[in-house]
Amino acid sequence: MKKNDEILLIAQEECAEVTQAISKVFRFGMDAEHNGATNKQRLTEELGDLHCMIELLIESNIIDRNELLEASANKREKLFVWSNIFKEETEPDIRVRCATYPACIINSLGNLTVRKLESDEY
Ligand SMILES: [Mg+2]
Repeated sequence: MKKNDEILLIAQEECAEVTQAISKVFRFGMDAEHNGATNKQRLTEELGDLHCMIELLIESNIIDRNELLEASANKREKLFVWSNIFKEETEPDIRVRCATYPACIINSLGNLTVRKLESDEY
């Protein structure tokens, strides 16, 4: 087997092991223990394995580090728009916030945001 093929194959295996570790977290919780290790420790180990393989993909010029970082930044931008990851944990009581903070904003997705006016906006 050629070196680059082996790197790709092991990276593929590590992706599957990360998938399995995340599945165990969902099924049994982050702190559940099995055979002397918690699911968090297993997830960390498998993500470390995958991280190693990603580094080897770069070092072997199979992928370009800058293009990878650009793709990562693009994904973060998509998550910012299309996921709840970066939104506040709890929804505020809009009636209270509207009474307290007079600036109401509706963004391009139709979401209502209520925020306090900065002093230079008065
Ligand atoms: Mg592994």
